[in-house]
Order: sequence, then structure tokens, then C-alpha cells
Amino acid sequence: MNYTVIIIDMLNDFVTGDLKCERAKHIIPNLKRLAEAARKHGVPVIYSNDAHYPNDPEVVHRWGKHAIKGTKGAEVIPELKPTEKDFVVEKRTYSGFYETGLDPLLRSLYNGEGVKTVILGGLHTHICVRHTAADAFFRGYKIIVAKDGVESFTQEDHEQGLRYLEYVYNAKIMTVDEIIREISKR
Ligand code: ZN
Repeated sequence: MNYTVIIIDMLNDFVTGDLKCERAKHIIPNLKRLAEAARKHGVPVIYSNDAHYPNDPEVVHRWGKHAIKGTKGAEVIPELKPTEKDFVVEKRTYSGFYETGLDPLLRSLYNGEGVKTVILGGLHTHICVRHTAADAFFRGYKIIVAKDGVESFTQEDHEQGLRYLEYVYNAKIMTVDEIIREISKR
């Protein structure tokens, strides 16, 4: 109950730009369907977006320049553009919770009852999805991961990523269609 859909890093740089991922393309229509169904059923849609400063550790020590705050590369891809009703929460490292306003936002939704279950989609299964799931788990949220709505650079990373999420954070791994059926039941 009290679901929210969190779409992670579906930004120009992650799909077609500096950190381009060919495999990201096939999850776009699935995430579009998921976001549309969520909006239709009153489930909040939240975008968790990298918005880096040039000297962020992740930029300097690991991935190089990507999704720099205020650039085109840090914008959500046009196919998944947020609507006015959606929420956009910027982050500066892998976890959507780390030093961001995500947790207070989740607690404020559903008239202050708060979100109970986060539905995760986006990039990458074994990096930002994983770290965001970790922080959701630590805070007591239930986790659903859209298995055809997340991706990694390789099939191996994607599959291992899903197994880890299921095993360590008790995430329910479901298809987008199954999730849509579930959120429509409310
Ligand atoms: Zn980043």
C-alpha cells in the first residue's frame, strides 16, 4: 500500500550521453507505461536524478564528468519527461536518499501517512538502484523492483544486481505489468 514510483537517473547522459548505456533503451517504454499507470491511479511519481557538482567524488574518482547540474546531460530523457504533478529530487551520489529531501518527501505523501512501498525503476540495477534500495530498506520501506524497468551496462551486472536486491533487501522483483496490476487494485 501507499506506493510511490521512483525513476532513477533516466537522464540524457545515462542513456545517450557521457555514460551512455545501449541496454537502457528497451526499458524506456516500460517505464513510460509504469509512470502513466501510477499517475492514473494516484500513485506519486518521483524522479531521483543525478545533479553533480564538478568535484563530486563520484565524478572525480570514478566515472568522470556526467549529469552535471544544470546541463542538458542532467535532464530527464524527453520520452520520460516529468509532468507537473511529479516530484524531482536531485542527488549527488548513488543513493537517492543520501543528503537529499527524498525521505521527508516520502513521509509527507498520502496526507502525511507516508509512503510504505517504493517501486524502483531506472539505472543501474547494481549501482544507483541498489544504493537507493539499501537506504529505503534501512528506513523501513518495502521495496519492489521493476525487473523490466531497470538495467545495467551488462546482462551479468543486471542479473546479479536483481539477485542481490532480492536477497539482501527482500525486494519483490516484478514485471512492470505485474506492478501495474498491483497498483490498480488499490
Ligand atoms: Zn553520478
